[in-house]
Amino acid sequence: MYLKSKLSKSLITFKGLHFRSKQREKKYLRHKVVVGIGGNLGDVKRRFEHLFVYFKRDKQVELLETSLILQNPPFGFLDQDDFLNSIVVLKTNLQPLEFLDYLMRVEKRFSRERSFANAPRTLDLDIIFFDNRIINHKRLQIPHISWKERESVVIPLLDINL
Ligand code: ADP
Ligand code: MG
Repeated sequence: MYLKSKLSKSLITFKGLHFRSKQREKKYLRHKVVVGIGGNLGDVKRRFEHLFVYFKRDKQVELLETSLILQNPPFGFLDQDDFLNSIVVLKTNLQPLEFLDYLMRVEKRFSRERSFANAPRTLDLDIIFFDNRIINHKRLQIPHISWKERESVVIPLLDINL
């Protein structure tokens, strides 16, 4: 069950009670990471639910918070379905590049295939913030390069406590 609200002609939010699970913090996990999640192929809401179960079972991370889901139009390549985007807050002891590799393994586990830029996808996992670190590596920019310009990031971010 989701509570659906229409923000504008093209933006819709979905709130599900189970998306707001708040667990007890595992103190031994040092880093707090804000991760943007998105997809536009198949049943994306169901995939997000499976992803949360996956994170909850995985000892390498702790799922602290999940935001509302935003339905929003694609950009770049326009001939594809709307995207669903959300934000999760995770804790981990992995370092930023290790954590990026970890997220790419999770994307693969959820059948992500890379074809071309802005292509339709089952699951995209992007690091938005990693503690308060600033990183400019060829494989990893933190904060995420265009987080401020994207409704898909900013609107879900407003829904969580950082
Ligand atoms: P998109 O830009 O649509 O998320 P991809 O998921 O295919 O496209 O990511 C392309 C590349 O972006 C990855 O190979 C990764 O190395 C790089 N990248 C740079 N900064 C980040 C970040 N903060 N989070 C995730 N990926 C990043
Ligand atoms: Mg990505």
